[in-house]
Amino acid sequence: MSRPTGRHFLQIPGPSNVPDEVLRAMSAPTIDHRGPDFAELGRTVLDGVGPVFGTTNPVVIYPSSGTGAWEAALVNTLSPGDRVLSFETGHFALLWQKMAGELGLQVDLVPGDWRHGVDPDVVEERLTADTGHEVKAVCVVHNETSTGVTSRVAEVRAAIDRAGHPALLLVDTISSLGSIDYRHDEWGVDVTVSGSQKGLMLPPGLGFNAVSDKALEASRSAGLKRSYWDWEPILEANQRGFWPYTPATNLLYGLREALRILDEEGLANVFARHQRHAEATRAAVRGWGLEILCADEREHSGVLTAILLPDGHDADQVRRVILERYDMSLGAGLGKVAGTVFRIGHLGHFNDLTLAGTLAGVQMGLRLAGVPIDDRGIEAALARLEQP
Ligand code: PLP
Repeated sequence: MSRPTGRHFLQIPGPSNVPDEVLRAMSAPTIDHRGPDFAELGRTVLDGVGPVFGTTNPVVIYPSSGTGAWEAALVNTLSPGDRVLSFETGHFALLWQKMAGELGLQVDLVPGDWRHGVDPDVVEERLTADTGHEVKAVCVVHNETSTGVTSRVAEVRAAIDRAGHPALLLVDTISSLGSIDYRHDEWGVDVTVSGSQKGLMLPPGLGFNAVSDKALEASRSAGLKRSYWDWEPILEANQRGFWPYTPATNLLYGLREALRILDEEGLANVFARHQRHAEATRAAVRGWGLEILCADEREHSGVLTAILLPDGHDADQVRRVILERYDMSLGAGLGKVAGTVFRIGHLGHFNDLTLAGTLAGVQMGLRLAGVPIDDRGIEAALARLEQP
């Protein structure tokens, strides 16, 4: 293969493209993490990150991947043997429930077909049946990155309330935060888990827990073992703008800049932009005559679209052709949809022409790989992009 020219198209559903301003902000000298300049940086990001979660409560920031932030949410709030209610919405929901089992929790897993989000009626049913209140937490992945399905968290909250059940609500927003409307406080979420590498437009390396008062209260008696992930010493040091250990200083420079960029665009505009690009992508998929994995109109993701290939066609081969010919990375099918699905990420630092280029590459790649498609996909997407 000849040396690629121009920018690589990174159109996986995260890590997403990092804006130049963020890259520049990170390429600064690392400072003393116990000095006064750091305290100012720490306070700025700790104050500034709340609105993205829709919270006025504390947000704990870890030098970690999203998986670490998952673990933090569980070990700070739960005790060995506690029951948690989980939903098989896709690959990431399964990984989180597997972790819960490994940590000594008892998981009630509601099976799913990977084409739907969490069903609020099932939440209500399960919790109403749990008259002894043995279920201590409900775990929901807001945006299933493996399927392109977004669960309706506000409706899950309403279902928990209708059941009159005291379980904590733990939500993974690793691939939705800063891209899809999300309201930690308003929706009564107890722990919101997130990561830096998707809607926040940063490289991988920061994990987040937004924490409700109820979750903080639960952490005082939670019995699972924890040390590094323990919220208490972090929240204590955060009051002065510090961390109890060496924080990811340069990622925090990047976070400060990313928060400024999101604020400048306005979160409502950011969310609308993602929805619009997702609609244009779906127009292309339908124009090609292919099937979208998400089966419920209310649950289409604004962040990515997972596309099913017709029987006998290999999604990984399509991705390979597109990488080799057009230097574009697309998301692989994960878990039980490996090989049958590929995923287009349309999130973060992204615009109309990035989408047009992405879809052009996908259309050409599908044809080169011999997948029978109608060429009207691109036209349909461009027609959508001509509209506001
Ligand atoms: N949850 C979701 C929804 C994700 O998309 C991912 C990663 O893509 C994770 C959890 C795991 O996060 P990480 O790979 O940063 O540990």
